[in-house]
Amino acid sequence: MKKAEQLYEGKAKKVFATDDPELVIVSYKDDATALDGLKRGTIAGKGVVNNRMSNFLCSLLEKNGVPTHLVEELNDRETLVKKVSIVPLEVIIRNISAGSFAKRYGVEEGIVFAEPTIEFSYKNDDLHDPLINSYHALALGLATKEEIETIKTLAFKVNDILKEYFLSLGVKLVDFKLEFGRLSDGSIVLADEISPDTCRFWDAETNEKLDKDRFRRDMGGVEDAYNEMMKRVFG
Ligand code: ADP
Ligand code: UDP
Repeated sequence: MKKAEQLYEGKAKKVFATDDPELVIVSYKDDATALDGLKRGTIAGKGVVNNRMSNFLCSLLEKNGVPTHLVEELNDRETLVKKVSIVPLEVIIRNISAGSFAKRYGVEEGIVFAEPTIEFSYKNDDLHDPLINSYHALALGLATKEEIETIKTLAFKVNDILKEYFLSLGVKLVDFKLEFGRLSDGSIVLADEISPDTCRFWDAETNEKLDKDRFRRDMGGVEDAYNEMMKRVFG
């Protein structure tokens, strides 16, 4: 598949057109941002970890009945995916309190929920990705009622599959962000990435953080954490 013009450069990835209008190539960078773009840096090797891990997890999800954008990994940093029109919602599932949830509701991190939670942010950098509910998403015309229902069902299914998978690697899946998109026929598929940039991973024994929180919170050992997750997934 020929890589054609760059369509978009985001904070962590670039998107390129191909000679097939239904397919794009995503290219993962080592650039990292946090705190609404205020904090910038690079995490050496992150693009490789995120590309390979995301593809592995998409394949696992596909095998378990979750449709995704994945077509084919091209190399360590680049993957051919189905082009989607992104539903501008960040879909966040939480199993354990952490991050903005702990801050917003004034609770400590580490509370294990009886049931997972779901929340949506409106993916809009100018508005700083505000928290919204599904009625707001509908009112704003971001998705139809049916699409929102599909997204909720798929997001919880992704959680069931990934929570169990990561636990088998000695990792607690604390929370994560998903993005969904529409294919040209209108069907909803999981898109974007699933990686230590978009998930919180805690070691099941020690609760050591193995994700981007090490970068966000200046904890050090950022590359080591990404490499450790890579080792757990690929051996
Ligand atoms: P951001 O836009 O937040 O800076 P990235 O740097 O990860 O994020 O850029 C990748 C962009 O590509 C995101 O806006 C994401 O929504 C979009 N994207 C992810 N998967 C697909 C896909 N299959 N088709 C089209 N766009 C996609
Ligand atoms: N997340 C993400 N992109 C965002 C915001 C959040 O991937 O723009 C992920 C984050 O890695 C975490 C989960 O979503 O796994 C929940 O993040 P939270 O709302 O706690 O926000 P944060 O503390 O990262 O600001």
